Amino acid sequence: MPYEELLTRYEPVVGLEVHVELSTATKMFCGCATGFGAEPNTQTCPVCLGMPGALPVVNATAVESAVRIGLALNCRIAEWCRFARKNYFYPDMPKNFQTSQYDEPIAFDGWIDVEVPAADGSGETSEVFRVEIERAHMEEDTGKSTHVGGSTGRIHGADYSVVDYNRAGIPLIEIVTRPITGAGERAPEVARAYVSALRDLMRALDVSDVKMEQGSMRCDANVSLMPTGSSTLGTRTETKNVNSLRSVERAVRYEMTRHAAVLDAGEAVFQETRHWHEDTGITTAGRPKSDADDYRYFPEPDLVPVAPSREDVERLRATLPENPADRRRRLQGDWGYSDLEMRDVVNAGAVEVIEETVAAGASPAAARKWWTGVLARQANTDGVAVTDLGVTPAHVAELDGLVASGRLNDSMARQVLEGVVAGEGTPTEVADARGLELVQDDGALQAAVDKVVAANPDVAEKIRGGKVQAAGALIGQVMKEMRGQADAAKARELILTTLGVEG
Ligand code: ADP
Ligand code: MG
Ligand code: ZN
Repeated sequence: MPYEELLTRYEPVVGLEVHVELSTATKMFCGCATGFGAEPNTQTCPVCLGMPGALPVVNATAVESAVRIGLALNCRIAEWCRFARKNYFYPDMPKNFQTSQYDEPIAFDGWIDVEVPAADGSGETSEVFRVEIERAHMEEDTGKSTHVGGSTGRIHGADYSVVDYNRAGIPLIEIVTRPITGAGERAPEVARAYVSALRDLMRALDVSDVKMEQGSMRCDANVSLMPTGSSTLGTRTETKNVNSLRSVERAVRYEMTRHAAVLDAGEAVFQETRHWHEDTGITTAGRPKSDADDYRYFPEPDLVPVAPSREDVERLRATLPENPADRRRRLQGDWGYSDLEMRDVVNAGAVEVIEETVAAGASPAAARKWWTGVLARQANTDGVAVTDLGVTPAHVAELDGLVASGRLNDSMARQVLEGVVAGEGTPTEVADARGLELVQDDGALQAAVDKVVAANPDVAEKIRGGKVQAAGALIGQVMKEMRGQADAAKARELILTTLGVEG
């Protein structure tokens, strides 16, 4: 069903559950290390292996991170809360229950403002959409199963399975939104913008790596439709582990169209989890999941309640960083970028480098041009972050200085930057080594202008007659005469004065 059509008859509702793995040195309830990529089962102990009689102890840093996350999400912080056991058959959880929080989360009733492209369709301006947070609670991660043999990597058809418990017990914060309504056609974009805003916030708080591709941030997307004008929520599906921002948007959009087709056929949406397939862009059925699923939650008897004092909460509030969206707005104002330009900068992951490049002396316009132009394209080709190209803010500021001082023109600067990316040295070193320098000799430039003017009498005549735009054709030829080593603006100026016209 065409997306636009479904929106005339249905209102989408989205609910997002995001798991953030905290970057604490040790696990949630034991002293085991948490580093990513260690040999399997080397970061385990009796507590996280669920040995009988082993007793957990809460990680204080994890609780502080949870409180800071809650505060940054404008939540209320519980004065007293407990952990609860969530009982379930977890093949990769040796305890066979997950220590989580249930009806007593550490943080609840919050909100976060996210920015989405404005509904005017221009793509030029942004609009703020408020997403309400139901709760943020603490829990622990599970281990990781690997199914060996068979072609799909799934348990079906595998010869045997192995389990790595290194991840079991790593602290997680699960952040759950209230049902998001009123986003209409932009529901998929709001979902994406929300996950993106959460990621920025976690980075600013410095509580997690938030690497979606490594699983330190994971998103489950709940989607339902209700007939336009209705206020009764429809049946939802929960698409699990959608592991990139782009996939969040695509998965929500896909489920919206799938639900609409089911409802239009007069059938009922089946409440279940769904798997997202990145390659084909579709979801497939997972397991049935009713609201009445009984996890036999009960308060964890081996852990004392968590009761952060109001003084501690205020102490932690004082450590909150500037809100990333406010910070972006402040920088956008300082730099004089349009909404669209700022969005490019954010999408290129270049806010911090541009800040440093400007601090190193470059103009905001030049810093943006290089980081979101040549460098962003190179990073994209190499599949790395723009900050991992080996080009520093100081390099870009130096390059801008070479252009501003008239030593390099734009195309030379681009060549120099390519040299810096290739590891040939600093911009000055590359320019020296490659012999890139604008010819400062006005005599040589004048000679080139005279030659080109003489060779193009008709164009020259037009310019003399006032068609100043026609100079463009001559500038190209002058630059060619100069083998690119001239300042195009200067060439233009000289062409016009030679022909006796005011620029
Ligand atoms: P569970 O993990 O058991 O599925 P949670 O309460 O942790 O339940 O998360 C459910 C998520 O789904 C929340 O974000 C909630 O706002 C959202 N949600 C609940 N009902 C609907 C619905 N009908 N349509 C879309 N989202 C929903
Ligand atoms: Mg949940
Ligand atoms: Zn352990």
